[in-house]
Amino acid sequence: MASRMRLSTITHLAYAVTLVLTAVSASTFILSARSASQERIAIQQHLEVDDLAEELAIVAESRTDEARLYVMRGDEQHLAKFYVDDDQELHLEASLEKLSRLGVSPEEKAMFHQIRSAADAIDKIEKDAIGAYRAGRQNDAQRALFSDEHYRLHTNLLKQVEDVRSSITARSQGIVDAAKARSDFFGTIAKSMLVLTALMFLAVLYFVLSRRVALPLIRMSNVVRRLAQQEYDVEVLDDGRRDEIGEMNHAIQIFRNNGLERERLDAERRKDQRMKDLMLQMMHRVQACQNQEELSDVVSRFMPQIFPDAAGHLFVLKEQGSTLHSLGQWSGPTASDLHFSIDDCWALRRGRPHLSEPDGEDVTCHHIHIAESSNLCIPLTALGDIVGLLYLETRTENHASQADRLYFELLAENVGLAVANLQFRQRLVGMAKRDALTGLLNRRSLDEALNRSLDNQGIALGCIMIDIDYFKRFNDQFGHDAGDAVMQYVARILLEVVGEKGDVFRFGGEEFTILLPGATDTDAEKVAEHLRQAVESAPLSYRGRLLDPVTISLGISTSPQGGPVSSVLERADRALLAAKKNGRNQWIRDEITEQA
Ligand code: GH3
Ligand code: MG
Ligand code: MG
Repeated sequence: MASRMRLSTITHLAYAVTLVLTAVSASTFILSARSASQERIAIQQHLEVDDLAEELAIVAESRTDEARLYVMRGDEQHLAKFYVDDDQELHLEASLEKLSRLGVSPEEKAMFHQIRSAADAIDKIEKDAIGAYRAGRQNDAQRALFSDEHYRLHTNLLKQVEDVRSSITARSQGIVDAAKARSDFFGTIAKSMLVLTALMFLAVLYFVLSRRVALPLIRMSNVVRRLAQQEYDVEVLDDGRRDEIGEMNHAIQIFRNNGLERERLDAERRKDQRMKDLMLQMMHRVQACQNQEELSDVVSRFMPQIFPDAAGHLFVLKEQGSTLHSLGQWSGPTASDLHFSIDDCWALRRGRPHLSEPDGEDVTCHHIHIAESSNLCIPLTALGDIVGLLYLETRTENHASQADRLYFELLAENVGLAVANLQFRQRLVGMAKRDALTGLLNRRSLDEALNRSLDNQGIALGCIMIDIDYFKRFNDQFGHDAGDAVMQYVARILLEVVGEKGDVFRFGGEEFTILLPGATDTDAEKVAEHLRQAVESAPLSYRGRLLDPVTISLGISTSPQGGPVSSVLERADRALLAAKKNGRNQWIRDEITEQA
């Protein structure tokens, strides 16, 4: 900006100086011309005065000659010529008058008058002589015309003429010299001014060409070269010039802006593409998760990559419950509770995404407490059922765009399906492992557990086989449903008594198996007795009717104390049979193998 100012100031200054120089040059030229004309006038004057003086001398001379000839010869012709010259004298008078007007000095005028009186004096002598001749006094006339007096006057006259001529010559020479000197002086000044103007003009031209044309062009070509290399951060000089260079700069500016815009769009497209790639990767992994921990891991790893500006939680709904708990989180969300009820979230209540914002016009969810961020809740649903919530927290200035919200919802749909799939899968696995009536682990699970124990032969294992006594009677007496209820009741008692000590399986029918890892004979016997008493003492009722007391018979086997793992079931079964035979409602430990 400063250099631009200086540039224009200097240009203007140069224009002003050039103008002044031109004006000065012009006036000195005029002055010089005036001096020349003065010089010319002086020369002309000189010539005229000189001519006049000469004429005076010549006229005086020729009159004297004509008068002398007349008195000598008496020829009237000479007298006539004498009087012609007399007319001439009158003419001279007029010329003298003119000279004085032309600027003859008073001294010179006086000199002319002296000449005039000298001429008059000579004239008088000559006219008197002519008179004397006419009166017949030829000798007097001749004497007068050739007298010393006449000669003296005549010589004097010539001398005076010579004086006035030299005076005028000297004076006009002075004027001419002065005028010439003045003319030379002004001429020199005018020429110098002209040279200066030319130099100034050349300097301005150079300045204009180099500063206003060459430099900007060089700069422009640099800019164009860098733009061609796609360096759009290069600064284009757009100084608002209105000439062709200004227009070119402007065009380059537009070109650069277009380039920047294209680059921005490219970057946006690449960012969007990367976002979509990440989303696709996330979706694939989400669908391949085998449990909720894996799902939480995938979501908390990918979400911050896809939406770097958003922190968040993945909440899931506990099965058959109404509370949500955070399964995973990313980028340190701060505003939401980690556990809350469905009713605390407007999104879950309405089944639609809900945005809680500070100073927002809409209501804020109850599970959100710090209202400095913009909080988006998107319900996770599967086949119309709510399974969880995708919660996103963005700083208010990074407000999620409409496109981002669409992506959030897309991901939420995907994650919701994954959560539902996992729950469904969990249910299926449960169904495959457990017995539907009692909820106990089934026979298949028992086989798996025994297989695992086979791999860990070193660890002690207790096994109890249980059979409800006279169960058929319940069925017969109270119906099959009552039988089922009794079975469920017994199963619950078994679970309660065994607790953490081992696992309870439904072996089949009204028979159960209990595995007690790490249990010795004594431990197993204690558990068996405990079970027997718990079932025997439990009051049983069905549909308000008190049922007969239920008892169980139990057979115990152990490993490695009682034998190998592979035969625990068989040995326990044998012991159970023995207990049945021995009168039921008792336990017997298999000792046959031990004895063998
Ligand atoms: P005990 O064992 O004392 O010798 O006599 P019991 O009457 O219990 O005889 P057993 O064990 O041979 O009979 C089992 C009966 O249990 C046969 C069947 O009707 C009944 N039962 C088996 N499974 C179920 C079931 O799932 N529900 C009901 N209600 N009854 C079942
Ligand atoms: Mg049975
Ligand atoms: Mg039975």
